[in-house]
Amino acid sequence: MKGHESKMPRMEDILNLPVQDPPCTEFSAADIKWVKVEGGRQGGDDIALIPFARVDDFVKGESSNAECPASFRIESRRKRSEGSISKPRVDGYLEYTLYWCSYGPEDYRDSESGLGDVSNFKPATGKGSRPGRRHMMRGCLCHFTVKRLYTRPLLALIIYNQRKHVDKTGAPCHGILDQDAVGTRAMYAPRISEELRQKVMSMLYVGISLDNIIQHHMEVVQEHGGPHNRDDFLTRNDVRNIERVIRNTSHELHIDDECSVKVWVQRHQKHVFYFQDASGSEPFLLGIQTDWQLQQMLHYGHNGSITSHSTFGSKKLKYPLSTLLVFDSSQNAIPIAWVITSSLIGQDSHKWIGSLAERIRTKDPRWRLNAFLVDDPSFGISVVRDAFQCRVLLCVWHVRRSWIRNLLKKCCNIDVQREMFKHLGWILYSSRSGPNVMDAVEEFLEIFVDQSAFMDYFKSRWLPYMEMWVGGIRSLPVVGPEPHAAIESYHLRLKYKLFKEQHANFWPRIDWLIHSLTTEFHSLYWPYTYQMLMSYWTSRTSSWQRSSRKQIETWLMQFGILVQNFPSVIATCQVREISVSMSLRWL
Ligand SMILES: [Zn+2]
Repeated sequence: MKGHESKMPRMEDILNLPVQDPPCTEFSAADIKWVKVEGGRQGGDDIALIPFARVDDFVKGESSNAECPASFRIESRRKRSEGSISKPRVDGYLEYTLYWCSYGPEDYRDSESGLGDVSNFKPATGKGSRPGRRHMMRGCLCHFTVKRLYTRPLLALIIYNQRKHVDKTGAPCHGILDQDAVGTRAMYAPRISEELRQKVMSMLYVGISLDNIIQHHMEVVQEHGGPHNRDDFLTRNDVRNIERVIRNTSHELHIDDECSVKVWVQRHQKHVFYFQDASGSEPFLLGIQTDWQLQQMLHYGHNGSITSHSTFGSKKLKYPLSTLLVFDSSQNAIPIAWVITSSLIGQDSHKWIGSLAERIRTKDPRWRLNAFLVDDPSFGISVVRDAFQCRVLLCVWHVRRSWIRNLLKKCCNIDVQREMFKHLGWILYSSRSGPNVMDAVEEFLEIFVDQSAFMDYFKSRWLPYMEMWVGGIRSLPVVGPEPHAAIESYHLRLKYKLFKEQHANFWPRIDWLIHSLTTEFHSLYWPYTYQMLMSYWTSRTSSWQRSSRKQIETWLMQFGILVQNFPSVIATCQVREISVSMSLRWL
C-alpha cells in the first residue's frame, strides 16, 4: 500500500472483482460495471471480469454500438502454454488479445490524395473512396485488451484502455457523432455483419444467383424504409467476395484425412465441443456445434426436448454420424449438434454429452431441458439424466420401419408380411408383462422358419439386441408418433444431400463429411429460419420470384418438398403432411 488512502483498486485486487455474466446473448461495455485501476497509459484503465467463454459475445456487442458501429479487429495476440511460468502475476495471461477499432489507429483522412491514385481527389469524408483498409483509417484510438488469466483460465480480464471512438485530438472520428462522417459509410459499421454474411453464404450454397440475392436484398431494404445500417449497403462486391471464399474452400485441408480433420478442428475451435483423436484404444470422437446451432439449442431446447438421431450412414461413411435435433414451433426438426465417432454411440456418450451440457449452461445457467429422446437403448441413459436432469424417452419408430422395409423386400405374401409384423410388434411390446423375450423370439423363428431371407436379416441385425430393446421399452417411456415425421424428414434430407452418387468417392473421408455438414447442409436451415421461404410464397407476384422459379424448385427438392402445387402451397405444412402420412404407414 502506498501512503495515501485511495479507492482505486490495484491490479493485485482483480480477483476480488465480481465475475459479470449478463443474461443477454450479446452484451457491450454499457452492460458492465467497470472499475478503474491504478496505472495504465491514460492513468487508469477500466477493467472487468467476465467468463472467458463470453468474450466473443462482448466483442460482438461492442461492435454493434448504435452511436459508433465499428468492427474490432485483433491487432495482436500472444499465447503461453499452461505450466510455462512458475510464479505467474495475478494478471498474468494464458492468452493476450488486443482488439482495436477498425477505424484506427492510423489516420488517413487528409492524406488520401497522396496515395498515387490518379483518378481524382478523395474527400476527407471518405465519400467515393476506394474499398480497402487504408481509406477507412480515421485515427480512432478505441481499443481494449482481453487476458485469459493464467491462474484462472475460465476467466477473462477485459482492460478497456480507450472506450471512446475518438482521434488523438479527442474528437469523435466516425459514427453519428462525427460531423465529417455524415452521409458516408463511416457512420455505419465498416463491414457487413456476420449474420448477413451467413445469410448470403447460405443463399449461395443453395444455388441462388448473385443477381437474385441483390434483388432480394433491395426488396428487403425497401420494405423497412431505406438503408439504416451497413448491412443495408450490401453490394455486388460483398457478394462476389463471399462467392470467392466459397469457391476457394475445399474440404481437403491436407492430403491425409486424419491430418485434414485436425487442421479443421484447429481452425474451428469455436465450433468444436469435443474432440478426441483416434489413438491406441481411444476411438475417434468429434462433436460439432456452430454458433447458429447453439442459438437454436438455447431457443428451442429450453423447456423443450432434444432428440438423438444416431448412427446415420454406417455402411457408406467411414464413421457413422449422429445428430441431436430440436423442434421449432411448427414441429420441424433442426440439427443442433453433430457427433462423428468410430465407437458405438452409447460407448463414449459420457465424454461429449457432459461437454455439450456445460457449453449450454455457460451460455445460459437458467436453460432447462424437459425431455431427451434416444433412439437406441444403449445410448447412455444415466449419462443423459445426469447431464441434463430431465426425463429420457425411447424412440422405436425406426426399428419398426426397418422391419417393414425388409418384410416388403424379403417376403412376397402380403398375409405373411402382416402376420410377421404383428408378431414382431407383440415381442417388442407384449413381452413387457408376458413370457421371456428369448422364448418369444424363439417361437417367432420357428413359426416363420421358411421365410429364410427375412430370418437371415433378422438374426444378424436384430437378434443380438432384442433383449436390450425389450428391456429399454420396459424401463423407459416410449415416444408417441408426433416427432417421427420431423425426424424422418431430417433423415431424408441428410440422405438427399450426402448420398448423391457424385460424392461417392468422398464418403470414406471424414473431412468431407464435416465440410458438407457445416457448409451446404447447414445452409439449408438458415434461410428456413429466416422465414425467407414463407415470404417468397406470400409475395408470389414479385419479379424476384418469377425469375428464379427454377431455383426455388431445386431448393424445394432439397427440402424434400413436392413441387407440383408450387407456389400455392405453404411449404412447411406440406413437408409435415408428407412425412406424417409416411410415418403413419409405419405404425
Ligand atoms: Zn472507433
